[in-house]
Amino acid sequence: MKLIESQAKAIFAEHGIPVPTGRVAHTPEEARAIAQEIGGRVVVKAQVPIGGRGKAGGIQLADDPEGAYHQASRILGMDVRGYKVERVLVEQAADIVQEFYLGITVDRDRQANVVILSAAGGMDIEEIAEKHPEKVAKLWLNAGLGLRDFHIRQLAVQAGVAPELLKQLAPIMKTVYQILLSHDATLVEINPLARLGDGRLVALDGKMEIDDNALFRQEKLAALKEDEGDHPLELEARRRGLAYVKLDGYVGVIGNGAGLVMTTLDMIQRSGGKAANFLDIGGGARAEVVRNALEVVLSDPDVKSVLINVFGGITRCDEVAQGLLDVMRSMDVKVPVVVRLVGTREEEGRRLLEGTELTPAATFQEAAQKAVAAAQG
Ligand code: GDP
Ligand code: MN
Repeated sequence: MKLIESQAKAIFAEHGIPVPTGRVAHTPEEARAIAQEIGGRVVVKAQVPIGGRGKAGGIQLADDPEGAYHQASRILGMDVRGYKVERVLVEQAADIVQEFYLGITVDRDRQANVVILSAAGGMDIEEIAEKHPEKVAKLWLNAGLGLRDFHIRQLAVQAGVAPELLKQLAPIMKTVYQILLSHDATLVEINPLARLGDGRLVALDGKMEIDDNALFRQEKLAALKEDEGDHPLELEARRRGLAYVKLDGYVGVIGNGAGLVMTTLDMIQRSGGKAANFLDIGGGARAEVVRNALEVVLSDPDVKSVLINVFGGITRCDEVAQGLLDVMRSMDVKVPVVVRLVGTREEEGRRLLEGTELTPAATFQEAAQKAVAAAQG
């Protein structure tokens, strides 16, 4: 589960990390009232669970309450990388002198939490790591030892953070680590952690990801989950009882069994394409489930082709084929759909698909290649 900026900042503030004064608005009128309360220049920020809002036009400065009203009315309802903006955060504008990146996350390979600090903040950490790898300091923590002052000094020296900032940086870093542990977070990130004109370090952005398996003991956070933080298509899929994850490619994927779907994603990658989603319809998939799956995948505007990969065990291939044909007939499907059916009653399944608008594929590889080619062509 991902927390949006305003939720992460509320947690930061509660634990003593400095954040700008501000509140969430749902309407331009509210934004104006908040700007009035704050006084002076404010920044109006789209509250969606994804970064890169600045570049997408979702972050705007305003000189006065009228300006905040105007910017909020532009940003509310806007689409920021697939998320419709339903609220904005209105905050006192910061006079930024320097931007740092600070994050703690789980490194699964090393089975340890890793602290990342960089003096080249503001950008995506992936971008910083690519363009200036020497400017990214990393330190893997020993769970028993935790995060100590000498770790912080070492990171600061490596990242080139001025020594006079350590007095402010150290407690912020320790608090970020405490927040990660106490909230069962797999990521706590501040980007930018800004040095202001008056010398203060302030968290201007906040991002947190919570381990879903821990939500049973994170009641406050679980209460936020209901309708927030996930992609609208993921919410719709969850309502329909499907295991769906939105990805950033363009080949829609439907398969039965998580392993098969994962392998399908790999195969698409190997064929030079990018998957638009993960969708597992599970075993014993009935026609109704196939319909739901196809409807969710096809409602994603990023999808340029669909690859359906079904291994018939309990699931009968003819039933899947029938489900597909029913959906195709009742929907206006504009993208090519490639189907690979093997296993129980595959002959019957394939026969049903003969002479239809569906593209059959005999092998896994052929299916992936056809789907990628169809999306790119
Ligand atoms: P993101 O693009 O989604 O990561 O959103 P951020 O909250 O990190 O904001 C992006 C950028 O907008 C920051 O790196 C800053 O450069 C700028 N920004 C954000 N808040 C302020 C502010 O209060 N004042 C000024 N001048 N710039 C801001
Ligand atoms: Mn940011």
